[in-house]
Amino acid sequence: DPGAPPVIIIGSGLAGYSLAREFRKADRDTPLMMITADDGVSYSKPMLSTGFTKDKTARELAQADAGAMAEQLDMDIRTRTRVTALDPDAHEILIGAERLAYRKLVLAWGAEVIRLPPAISGSARVVSINDLEDYRLFRERLEPGHRVVILGAGLIGCEYANDLRNGGYDVTVVAPSVQVMPGLLPEAAATAVQQSLETEGVRFHLGVAAESVIDEDGKAVVWLSDGASIQGEVVISAVGLRPRTALAAEAGLQVGHGIKVDRTLATSAPDVYALGDCAEVEGQVLMYVLPLMASARALAKTLAGEETPVSWGAMPVMVKTPCCPTAVCPPMAHAEGHWDVQVDGTSVRALYRAADGQLLGFAVTGDYAMEKQALSREVPPVLS
Ligand code: FAD
Repeated sequence: DPGAPPVIIIGSGLAGYSLAREFRKADRDTPLMMITADDGVSYSKPMLSTGFTKDKTARELAQADAGAMAEQLDMDIRTRTRVTALDPDAHEILIGAERLAYRKLVLAWGAEVIRLPPAISGSARVVSINDLEDYRLFRERLEPGHRVVILGAGLIGCEYANDLRNGGYDVTVVAPSVQVMPGLLPEAAATAVQQSLETEGVRFHLGVAAESVIDEDGKAVVWLSDGASIQGEVVISAVGLRPRTALAAEAGLQVGHGIKVDRTLATSAPDVYALGDCAEVEGQVLMYVLPLMASARALAKTLAGEETPVSWGAMPVMVKTPCCPTAVCPPMAHAEGHWDVQVDGTSVRALYRAADGQLLGFAVTGDYAMEKQALSREVPPVLS
């Protein structure tokens, strides 16, 4: 029924656009609408942390603007429009006082940055970089010779550290954890990445927390829990992301760490689906591109009338620290096994095996990183 309300996708990140693209392959006629809080420029978010290494400005990372995407995918896009509430009983979304009806609704609104306490985040020198607009503003304020302090030693903190060194900036990383990428890398692999970054000139203060950031004479002074302080012109807060769940929870949808969906990406509300960084698929929140692409392909078919559960194979994560190529397939939370670790300088092969020898996860760095494909074939699928 062409007169019926459109399929509405909220969010113009990789999840929203991948879904729209896949949906149009299966269904050319159903009206499609995208609503996005940002400018709707299509870009690949992982490229944000390789901007200097690959010598790309924010403008060069923009693949297509909203107008071009709307035309290409034959859909309406409303940019700079923030959805403020969902009304699943009425099959409507709210944008302030305005109501829009949908036939099917897809939540692809991503994850938000975790903000540090006001003593830190209150400083105008503290930035977080989670989308292309953040990145453009960051690049505008960064000047040659600037010292950058990165708060957080997770995947994103480490990638920005390597990238900014490649851009010639002075970089210091501060994090309360005793190793880099805790929860993602086993200790030996983390040590290899840290040592390689140190060889590139990155300084680390691990095992200490940043307590406050004071603006002083055109620079920031970052005070640490051990009483030391570090100076820099720009401070990047990279302490993690959290799926956006507030509007879903207010509308009565089931949420856990993310918006809870089943294998067909259906939420607990009829005709409402979720994918990408905001979604928790059968208890798992994987905030990476591979799982969202698989989700987009499955959900497009479901929306086009052929119900298709998503399956996720092994989901290796490539850490974009070129000074120490690293790939990791973390064992599942409930997995039981032990690490078998081989260290050869900064080349590490760490294999997590069950008692019967089955490979359940791995982390490989340096010369061993190229084994990632072969190892990925051995680990069990994340969602079979
Ligand atoms: P987003 O891209 O965050 O999109 C969310 C969209 O929703 C935005 O358009 C936003 O404006 C909109 N929105 C939010 N709230 C509302 C609202 N209320 N109303 C309307 N619109 C709204 N993954 C990998 O697999 N490999 C990598 O190498 C990798 N590198 C990364 C490097 C960096 C620096 C970062 C930050 C992430 C990286 N990731 C990587 C993760 C990956 O980029 C994300 O998983 C993916 O981009 C998430 O896409 P998304 O569409 O779900 O969310």
